[in-house]
Amino acid sequence: MEYRELGDTGILVSRVCFGSLTLGPLCANLSLAEGRDLLLEAFNLGVTFIDSAEQYRTYPYIRAALDQSEVPIVVASKTYAHNDQEASWAIEDARIALGRETLDIFLLHEVRDEEDWHSRSAVWQVLLDAKANGIIKAIGLSTHSARVASMAANISEVDIIHPLLNLAGIGINDGGTDAMLSAIAAAKAAGKGVYSMKAIAGGGLMHQAKEAICWAYQQPEVDAVAIGFKDRAELITDIGWLNGEEPAEAQEVALIDRNMTFDKEPSCHGCGLCIKRCSTGALYLGDDNLVAWDKSKCLYCGYCIAACPWFCISFC
Ligand code: SF4
Ligand code: SF4
Repeated sequence: MEYRELGDTGILVSRVCFGSLTLGPLCANLSLAEGRDLLLEAFNLGVTFIDSAEQYRTYPYIRAALDQSEVPIVVASKTYAHNDQEASWAIEDARIALGRETLDIFLLHEVRDEEDWHSRSAVWQVLLDAKANGIIKAIGLSTHSARVASMAANISEVDIIHPLLNLAGIGINDGGTDAMLSAIAAAKAAGKGVYSMKAIAGGGLMHQAKEAICWAYQQPEVDAVAIGFKDRAELITDIGWLNGEEPAEAQEVALIDRNMTFDKEPSCHGCGLCIKRCSTGALYLGDDNLVAWDKSKCLYCGYCIAACPWFCISFC
């Protein structure tokens, strides 16, 4: 396993970051013991970096693994808070749930555009204050937008950028892979730490998973690549590929076809909340005025699952 410092933050991480979304109720919904053991297995393979978020509901797995880890682990989390009170709660929740006085990395979750960034200025101020008070070591933002990544490269207080990046540009809201790469290069030149997400577009690039994961890993400006693992076969396979190996487990992984189910009538009310939450346009109202899904645009981020008040959406 290779290790790198995240920009000028002084935080050393493994180049493979365990994207924990896949463990939790928005995705594989592993038991606490299963999720903990998968994280511990990743630590044994040299992974020392975990990505999480308030919304993923994966802190319990991480806490359980941290309690048994023999090596220091860096944990990043993020929040969708839209005011200072929500932001303070999000930070406190992470500190309590993870059992840590000081959080390593805390980000604004999925900044969509400049307007969104400005609308969350009170939240950003809470993060700035928390960093000044030693409660958070490094702050920044995650984004699916090349324009936002480029903007963040020029904001001196931003320590870390967590951008969506894959070889096909799937899910990048504006520009494409080249635009995102040049934003990332500018961020690196400005001393920001960069760890990317969605190397296989949440499953959309499963048919070329090895190429897609290795491509993300080989980008020189990317300090670490967050990859979601939901079972041992994926973990062994992806890390094996990055070590130049061809693990036997790769055959199991090749058979995975990610899918989502939509419990329509009588559950779906056609309220459109999930559609608003989806940044890729994968959801829309069908002719029956109920939610419909365009699999080709789906990143399997799970955000729509959390948005539905009637629990109509699930991974299968
Ligand atoms: S449909 Fe749901 S899982 Fe797919 S990209 Fe949209 S929000 Fe994410
Ligand atoms: S949020 Fe739930 S109820 Fe509303 S449109 Fe989406 S699936 Fe249907």
